[in-house]
Amino acid sequence: MNNIKIVLASGNRHKYDEFADFFASLDSAGMSGERVELLSIEDFARTPVDIEESGSSYEENAAIKAQTCAKLFGLPVIADDSGLEVRALDWRPGIYSARAAPGGDRARILWLLDLMEEKDDRRACFRASCVIAFPNSQEGLRNYFSSEGVCWGNISCCPSGEEGFGYDPVFVPDGHQKSFAELGRAVKREISHRSIAMRGVALILPYVVKYSLVHCG
Ligand code: IMP
Repeated sequence: MNNIKIVLASGNRHKYDEFADFFASLDSAGMSGERVELLSIEDFARTPVDIEESGSSYEENAAIKAQTCAKLFGLPVIADDSGLEVRALDWRPGIYSARAAPGGDRARILWLLDLMEEKDDRRACFRASCVIAFPNSQEGLRNYFSSEGVCWGNISCCPSGEEGFGYDPVFVPDGHQKSFAELGRAVKREISHRSIAMRGVALILPYVVKYSLVHCG
């Protein structure tokens, strides 16, 4: 039995943990007994890989990251691109969520709460596109598979909770009274936008196993 190597094209440790949790929980049915070994981009590349997210959608950005790394590393690569969409802000910040305001996560949460101060409508969703790309494709042929996930909820009035990352402390998912940062990893694994998108990509893992055995030694 071999481990099938897949690289996650993200330097975000929290995202790595969410993907690793997901793969660890996968049923190996249809995978010929192979297991997925998820490599982080930092474990794999000695120097940071700087990829410009120049796409105009989550899928385009995720595909740019996954295709670039698949070519560089010669292995199947998973990437995701995600963001927060707030109805009262015309669905901003969307694909610009990570760069919505200068500084870190804390500064962006304050930026968001400031914009939401007068708003009664707190409806929002997280959206993610998850892409798996293959290294040796034929020129002009699409070499990736993508899947999307959405998680609806509301923006709270103040941050709470310590877990997770990004806007987790101010996002209360539907069906819960607490923020993602309070609910923690187990709940995110069940209902998050990224988990839903990952489940779509997981459907083609048996194919990725066959591909890896033939092309990646
Ligand atoms: P990217 O997908 O790495 O380009 O970044 C997406 C940005 O959206 C993150 O930096 C966060 O600000 C936000 N985001 C995406 N997914 C989540 C999540 O699960 N929790 C909190 N914030 C998220």
